[in-house]
Amino acid sequence: MEDNLVTIAKFEDNFEADLAQRLLADNGIQAFVKNAIFYSMMPGVFPGKVDLELQVNSEDEEKARAILSEYQNTPEIKRILVRNDVLQEGHFLLTSGRHSANYLEKIHLYQNPQDTARVCEMLSDLLVDYDFDTVVGPAYGGIVLAFETARMLEKGFLFTQRIEGVMTIRSGFDLSKVKKAVITEDIITTGGSVKEVITTLKNAGIEVVAVAAIVDRSTEEIDFGCPFLPLLKMDIPSWEADDCVLCQNGIPLTVPGSSDKKI
Ligand SMILES: [Zn+2]
Repeated sequence: MEDNLVTIAKFEDNFEADLAQRLLADNGIQAFVKNAIFYSMMPGVFPGKVDLELQVNSEDEEKARAILSEYQNTPEIKRILVRNDVLQEGHFLLTSGRHSANYLEKIHLYQNPQDTARVCEMLSDLLVDYDFDTVVGPAYGGIVLAFETARMLEKGFLFTQRIEGVMTIRSGFDLSKVKKAVITEDIITTGGSVKEVITTLKNAGIEVVAVAAIVDRSTEEIDFGCPFLPLLKMDIPSWEADDCVLCQNGIPLTVPGSSDKKI
């Protein structure tokens, strides 16, 4: 049994470790705190010298990491999206013709490199324990994220782009030393583009070990064949125009602006 335990987080503080353990328990995952006995014998002595290790069975690892990440990152990532006016509230006409109360204008984030760097730091935290040599981003949003995340984790960088509809690795990159990659993306809606990136990389002999994203706004569970690590999971409802509650309440409809890819 012991052999199956993996450490998914470290805490200096017993309160924090206990909170995380209870959060996982609420989600049906049994977690253990290593070094807790040692800590309780010496609380407050040499603070920070004894790491409390939060451990779970390896089969629960992915789910447990996702739950902790959401808990730890949600307040800050939401603040960043709101203060950069990425996450907008109102009454929007989507390209699909449906109406929605929320719109994500992701380009506003990239206009603020400092906040973008902070987001990449959070993505780095999600990815740091995985074994890979390169961070890959699909053009355009994923490029900024992949580059900065790769810089922080001291890894290589690549990007993919769609040429005449086909997802391709940007020509000219030297792929001879690229074996294992992670993918960074800003907003995942269906996961279709990322799946194309995974296939493209696989065809080039590159294995994808994880996908990290800022927002997962998918309505159905996505299987990338590797761990999917979003910083924020959002449920953004939309309606057919005839059924729209916002129309029924007389709220004026707006057409979102400059995004290259509307939700
Ligand atoms: Zn409407």
